[in-house]
Amino acid sequence: MLHEAGVPPLRERRGGRPLVIAGGPAVSANPMPLVDIVDALALGEGEETLGEIIRLLEEMSRDEIDRQSSREPGVLLEALARIPGMLVPGFSSAGVSFRDPVSPSHFPRSVIITPESVFPDTMLVESGRGCPGACAFCLAASIYRPFRFMPLSAFKELVEGLHPAVKRIGLVSTAVAANPDFVPIVKLLASRGIAVSFSSLRAEDLDDEKAALVGSIGTASASLAPESGSERVRFALGKRVPDEVYFIAAAKLRAAGVRHFTLYLLIGCPGENETTLVETEIFMERFRKAIGGRGFSVHVNPLVPKPWTPLQFWAMPEEREIAERQRAVEKMLRRLGLGVQIKSVRSALRQALFSTGDERIGRAIVHYVEGGLSWKRALKEAGVNVSFPHERKGPETAFPWDAISGPVRRGTLFKRFEAMERDGSAGAP
Ligand code: SF4
Repeated sequence: MLHEAGVPPLRERRGGRPLVIAGGPAVSANPMPLVDIVDALALGEGEETLGEIIRLLEEMSRDEIDRQSSREPGVLLEALARIPGMLVPGFSSAGVSFRDPVSPSHFPRSVIITPESVFPDTMLVESGRGCPGACAFCLAASIYRPFRFMPLSAFKELVEGLHPAVKRIGLVSTAVAANPDFVPIVKLLASRGIAVSFSSLRAEDLDDEKAALVGSIGTASASLAPESGSERVRFALGKRVPDEVYFIAAAKLRAAGVRHFTLYLLIGCPGENETTLVETEIFMERFRKAIGGRGFSVHVNPLVPKPWTPLQFWAMPEEREIAERQRAVEKMLRRLGLGVQIKSVRSALRQALFSTGDERIGRAIVHYVEGGLSWKRALKEAGVNVSFPHERKGPETAFPWDAISGPVRRGTLFKRFEAMERDGSAGAP
């Protein structure tokens, strides 16, 4: 993006202007790939940090900012480094911590409502952050702690001041129906004639009342994420949700009028073996029976290890092995007549390098986009250790993100990883 905008991607070539600041979950989890690229990084939840950055810039006149960024870039960067959660390369001391979690009253919502947007006339509202689940691969569960949600009272205030242009509210959360006020919130919105949609529903949250409500407001399709068709592999991943829960939830949703289901599966998971494919086929057949026929498709994504999760210690299988397992699953799903969407293994391997890499992967990206090198050559030129995601790590392993103080203790993560290896279950955090 920087290169295409005519901005030199490497910080050392920009001379302080323009100021480039990055943030968000991926950057917070592992900022190291960007330390040679950006001027500053916001770690953890950014709502309050953003306000403080804007106040700091407002306090300085335009001339001051220009002068300081061109002649004395240090003054501005020093001030940024004093904001909690800001990592400013060259100015922050080691061990910068994540910013404290914000209260749900700071959760964002759309401020521009227009029929021209991707979601026309819709206000997206972050109704919850984090997740009550504890899946061992999940970044959302590890970096957004504790699980927080917008209560009914906040929605009552929201609808009072709602602009008539808003025809629909999209509830955004990893686990929309885990909000204890889910039922009264949806009923409140429906009673005001506002359509409601959901980003993501967990099968384990859908009791009779919630499933009926989801159908009664005209929800046409629902996504569920069993992650694996094998209950054993799913449990090993820390998603301790039995097969039956998916079948029962889907049957209830179908009875309530939901016409289409999308199931999300991971491939290349720890604990997969020759029986996983058979178990997955049985799962799909039982799911089809539960919904009374066709009307579901499956997305298959290779599992990518993430920092601050128990799987940071895991050795991701090699490309060939993941590709083989993926081909077998795809063949089986197509034989069952299901629509299948497959994520490329190569793209997942790149993600793994970005996710677990250090500043060398950032340099490789710059070689690739600026220098026109092939990706393989760019990795070599930057000296990236491409086998790191495929190595089994231990308590002694130096991770790039050791440079920051994250939201979870390494000892806790390793204990869960060891339990997964030993007992086939990542257990609870
Ligand atoms: S249920 Fe989904 S959001 Fe929650 S921890 Fe598991 S993968 Fe993450």
